[in-house]
Amino acid sequence: MTEMIQEILKEYNAKMKLSLKVCAHCSLCAESCFMFIKNNKNPIYMPSYKFINSIGKIYKKKGNVDLKMLEDMKPIIWKNCVLCTRCYCPLGIDIPSMISLARTICRMSGVYPQYNEIY
Ligand code: SF4
Ligand code: SF4
Repeated sequence: MTEMIQEILKEYNAKMKLSLKVCAHCSLCAESCFMFIKNNKNPIYMPSYKFINSIGKIYKKKGNVDLKMLEDMKPIIWKNCVLCTRCYCPLGIDIPSMISLARTICRMSGVYPQYNEIY
């Protein structure tokens, strides 16, 4: 599993590295996310939180992640984000594509919402 994840990380390395490096944690993206607004501005729904705590974690671990870690990020990338692409980052970070990449890695590792999970 790790090798497969590392292959994907290698392909998107430059984009991920730049996104994680330039994120100023300014929270400006939050106001453009309806999930954040709808959930009483709970910080776990902030677009930046979602990409940092999904693909950001996988990247920092250099792909050495276990199934538990991927399972733990499942609600962040499926339940808390619908990939509507409405979030706006003034620094140009493409947050939805980062979250989408985390979904791809989870899916390829066999971690995804089951039909009886309400996501
Ligand atoms: S993703 Fe962009 S808008 Fe959101 S906290 Fe990071 S720098 Fe700010
Ligand atoms: S793509 Fe996800 S993080 Fe961005 S606005 Fe939509 S729900 Fe929020």
